[in-house]
Amino acid sequence: MRKPMVVGNWKMHGSEADSRELVAAIAARAGAQESVEVAVCPPYPYLQTIGRALQGSRVALGAQNVCEHAGSGAYTGEVSADMLRDVGCHLVIVGHSERRALYGESDLQVAHKLSAVLAAGLVPILCVGESLAERDSGLTHEVVARQLAAVLSLAGVAAMARSVIAYEPVWAIGTGRTATPEQAEDVHRHIRGLIAEHDAIIAGSVRILYGGSVKPGNAKEIFAMPDVDGGLIGGASLKADEFVAIVAAADR
Ligand code: PEP
Repeated sequence: MRKPMVVGNWKMHGSEADSRELVAAIAARAGAQESVEVAVCPPYPYLQTIGRALQGSRVALGAQNVCEHAGSGAYTGEVSADMLRDVGCHLVIVGHSERRALYGESDLQVAHKLSAVLAAGLVPILCVGESLAERDSGLTHEVVARQLAAVLSLAGVAAMARSVIAYEPVWAIGTGRTATPEQAEDVHRHIRGLIAEHDAIIAGSVRILYGGSVKPGNAKEIFAMPDVDGGLIGGASLKADEFVAIVAAADR
C-alpha cells in the first residue's frame, strides 16, 4: 500500500513573515494526520527558518529546485543538493514545468538534477507533463515517456525506488483548469506501465502525485483514482485552510 503524499509548492510567493505564519498553521493542522505524508517547499531564502519552524512536526521540508552538479564548484547562483540537505530539506522538486519552460531545463538536465538529489540522500519529486498543444495533438503519452526515459537511461530504474513522480499537465498548472480524474488516472497508469517495463515491483511502489489546480473541491475525486497517490499543490498550498483540506482529502 502506497502512503499518500501531499506537497505544497509555494513558488516565488510571500515574505518571510507570511511563510512563517503559513507554516505554523499547516504544521499545527496538517501535521496531525499520520496517514498522509506532508511536505512544503518554500522559497530558498526561507528554507532554514521554515525548517526550524517545522522541527518536531511531521511536515517535511522540500526545495523547489537544485543545481544539477553534485558536490561543490564554480556555479554562481546555484544551490547544491548537499546544501539543501544541510539546511534540513528531505525532498527536492526537479523538472517543474516552469523550470523547463521558463529556464530552458532539458530532459537531460532534469535527469542530472534527479541524480544529484539522490546522491545527496534526498528524495526527488520528478515532474513530468504535457503542454496543451501536445495534449491536443495526442502526444501526452509520448511526452511523459520521453521525459521519464531521460531519467531512466541516466539514473536507472532503481532510482525510481527512491523517487516520487508528479504528473503535472502544463495546461492545468495555475489555470484553474484541472485534469478530470479519468485523464489523470490514464497518464498515471501509463507512467506506472513505463516503469513496469523495467521493474514491476518498483512500478507498484513508486508514488505518483497529480498536480494542476488541485483545490479542496476537486481533490477527493482525483485522489480516489487507483494510480494517484496524492498531490503537488501550488496556489492552494498558500492558503492554510485549503492546503489542510487537501491533505485531509488524501487520506484513504
Ligand atoms: C504547481 O505549481 O506545481 C501546481 C500544481 O500549481 P497549481 O496547484 O497552482 O496549479
